[in-house]
Amino acid sequence: MQDQKTRVRFAPSPTGLLHVGNARTALYNWLFARHTGGQFLLRIEDTDLERSEARHEAQLMEDLRWLGLDWDEGPGVEGPHAPYRQSERLGIYREHTERLLREEKAYRCFCTNEELEAERARAVAEHRAQVYSGRCRALSAEESAERAALGEPFAVRLRIPDHPLRFHDMVRGEVEFAQETVSDPILVRSGSGNAVGVPVYNYVVTVDDALMEITHVVRGDDHLSNTPKQVAIYEAFGWKVPEFAHLSTILGSDRERLSKRHGATSIASFREMGILPEALVNYLALLGWGAEGGTRETFTQDELTREFKLERVTASPAVFDWAKLHWLNRHYLKQTEPARLADLAWAYFEKAGWLPEQGKASPEVLAWLESLISVFLPSLDQLDQLPEKAQFIFHFDPETARADEENTTVLGSASAEKVLAAFAARVGGAESGSVTPEQFKAWMNEIKSETGAKGKDLFHPVRIALTGAHSGPEFDKLIPVIETGSRLDLPVLIPSLRERVEKFLRA
Ligand code: GLU
Repeated sequence: MQDQKTRVRFAPSPTGLLHVGNARTALYNWLFARHTGGQFLLRIEDTDLERSEARHEAQLMEDLRWLGLDWDEGPGVEGPHAPYRQSERLGIYREHTERLLREEKAYRCFCTNEELEAERARAVAEHRAQVYSGRCRALSAEESAERAALGEPFAVRLRIPDHPLRFHDMVRGEVEFAQETVSDPILVRSGSGNAVGVPVYNYVVTVDDALMEITHVVRGDDHLSNTPKQVAIYEAFGWKVPEFAHLSTILGSDRERLSKRHGATSIASFREMGILPEALVNYLALLGWGAEGGTRETFTQDELTREFKLERVTASPAVFDWAKLHWLNRHYLKQTEPARLADLAWAYFEKAGWLPEQGKASPEVLAWLESLISVFLPSLDQLDQLPEKAQFIFHFDPETARADEENTTVLGSASAEKVLAAFAARVGGAESGSVTPEQFKAWMNEIKSETGAKGKDLFHPVRIALTGAHSGPEFDKLIPVIETGSRLDLPVLIPSLRERVEKFLRA
């Protein structure tokens, strides 16, 4: 039973694009919140002013919305714990630092970089852990205040407690770090001259999580070693330590940490490729989680919300698998309304110069595009493959078709010439752009009896003459697309069956 509403947050730094790993973190947080009837917050961690950019923040929010991950509090929706950008919360951190100094839970450290460097070098030489010696810990309150008042730059360090730092991790169980491995962490970096010191990630994240009443911190396991420091900060303030869940690393197929080297990994690039958000959400959900007692792999967002349990998230690394993402995308593409597919696919054809501007689409062209997409849908991994697959419809190139080695073999057979001549005679007598699949079937039957050719010998030469390749989509669907297309007013004129065969025989 939940005695307190769960509150989770996604806390990205707007320093670049949203990638697979962070998107999965956002999704797991969102699913956990929705599953438990809790709340999902978005907090922008932009204290690194040099690397944070407004455009990244905007893109991040757009990507989250595209994935269907809405937030209950955060930029754009606001809420009782505003502001939700760390750069707007500096006053809050300062007040909290003063409190820790006053309560002697933290102290000013006047050690210079050179001194700290020398300390580290000594530790290395003596094979000791490179942790801060705690030299300034012993300064009296008076001396510390006096030196600060005189303008000596200082950092603020937490006085680490004298006991191991423990927390519960829903993925890893009980975790404990010896206090010596943490030493006295810096909370606020030394400001140069009179500049105000900059609070560090571990500090601001803890203050924010506590003030925003976060009950579960779900994030990547690259933050696991930060957690004991954060636990010590909760303890120093006397705040309740939340539950944690550190998600495993995502690896590429070579079992190295997933990175740009492995190709596209940003959510924006998946979207550009024509991966559907429902496919990506389903895929990301399975990247480290599986439903209870089953091998089921397709889940709508509602189904995921019902089934998702943090306890079922695995601690072992997940391997990013394109084949599986494509499999899921094909699954969802096939279930998508034709009108939505046409709407999404339009841009690819427009970019190729084959369709007019999307806003200027006539209902006929839209309906035609829907039927064109359905021709290629069975073998479509992602929508941006459409122009390449449909290229032969818009641009028919008999010379290239004839130059192809496999085609040459087909066309070189004794019957191929007869079949093509018989087909040309029939299509030449029909009105251009008017051939129906029924008509086509009747002709093929006639040609079969007339020439004795059947199967491949009958169909391959005709297919090459119409499409440029000996294999491809079913004629039943393809013929109406070519014939209707040839009568449309498009930026490129689509050759009809008749024009194709004539051109082919001349080539
Ligand atoms: N801004 C941090 C990151 O993007 C957040 C880590 C956390 O969730 O605590 O890695």
